[in-house]
Amino acid sequence: MIPTRAYAGFGATTPLRAHTIDRRHPGPTDVQIDILFCGVCHSDLHTVKSEWTPPTYPCVPGHEIVGRAVAIGNDVKTFKIGDIVGVGCLVDSCRKCRSCKEGLEQFCEPGATWTYGSKDPHTGGVTYGGYSTTLVVDQHFVVHIPASLDLAAAAPLLCAGITTYSPLRHHKVGPRSRVGVVGLGGLGHMGVKIAKALGAHVTMFTTSPEKIADAKRLGADEVLVTRGAWAWDAAPLDMILDTVAASHDLNPYLKCLGRDGVMVVVGGPPTPHPPINASLLVGRRRMLAGSLIGGIEETQEMLDFCAEHGITCDIELIEMQQINEAYERMLKSDVKYRFVIDMASLRG
Ligand code: NAP
Ligand code: ZN
Ligand code: ZN
Repeated sequence: MIPTRAYAGFGATTPLRAHTIDRRHPGPTDVQIDILFCGVCHSDLHTVKSEWTPPTYPCVPGHEIVGRAVAIGNDVKTFKIGDIVGVGCLVDSCRKCRSCKEGLEQFCEPGATWTYGSKDPHTGGVTYGGYSTTLVVDQHFVVHIPASLDLAAAAPLLCAGITTYSPLRHHKVGPRSRVGVVGLGGLGHMGVKIAKALGAHVTMFTTSPEKIADAKRLGADEVLVTRGAWAWDAAPLDMILDTVAASHDLNPYLKCLGRDGVMVVVGGPPTPHPPINASLLVGRRRMLAGSLIGGIEETQEMLDFCAEHGITCDIELIEMQQINEAYERMLKSDVKYRFVIDMASLRG
């Protein structure tokens, strides 16, 4: 085993703190990665604070990982030592089911192995994420980071990037599309950038009036502040991507969609959203949908798309020791627009 420095949560209400975990030695198809940067996703916070199902503690979050390959197994074909690589939310899947065969490993039917908090088939324990200095992952779940991307600012593409790219592509957003993005946080700011790069007209919905100027700088054509009563009086939207991390009323957003419009929810609030008025769907054949990250091949496609369009995340670089403060700020929607941990701070 490889002793590895990490930061872990030990309970729902206690701060994360330094911890040591073991990584397996790389097998024939594995890549051993020295982690350089790890983004801080709101899912890390939901998980470690037990806002979804209670995790196994100690819990080492982090699934927006960029690092350098430092060892590779004998059967590894597409990576070599020294490569800059990425790992997102997935570290394994059955590779045999219909979803896996279609490149949709996130929907693996027996269940994918998530980067943290899943049963680890190699150790018998749970998987540990990127708030750590080293990671060992099967080559199938490792992607190449294009050379032109800033490494720290590319890290959040591994979750925030793919989670917004995948539904925008699935619902065929293009130059004539009118897209709304709800919530200007880590996912939301990537949603705006990617929708814009796909050629769409983008409306940002935010509860934070102080973010209006940033939303426009990021590419939004219009910004609607949804604090208090609000209504839609512009041309109907084709798609809305809802990235909000808290329970809220979806009905006013459904009303913004035109005929055959789709609202895709990617946010995972700890408590359910209030009920939907189904007549809003029936009347104009509108759809309410969800989406979960993206498969490995699509993650590589997204990274290449971002490199082609010069897209990375707007980040605040922090040290590992600042993580609890970062969580506090994330809870107040005060992130511009993704915290990224410089893992040098954990190497000491
Ligand atoms: P984030 O950076 O914290 O952004 C969430 C944004 O939601 C906030 O910046 C805020 O934007 C808005 N918001 C409105 N009311 C809020 C409230 N009461 N509490 C918190 N936020 C509120 O979070 P994120 O990392 O982008 O993640 C967003 C959600 O997506 C989380 O629930 C996360 O677990 C989930 N997620 C899902 C997937 C997937 O595959 N489906 C992948 C990653 C993350 P404004 O200030 O503009 O209103
Ligand atoms: Zn995430
Ligand atoms: Zn599968």
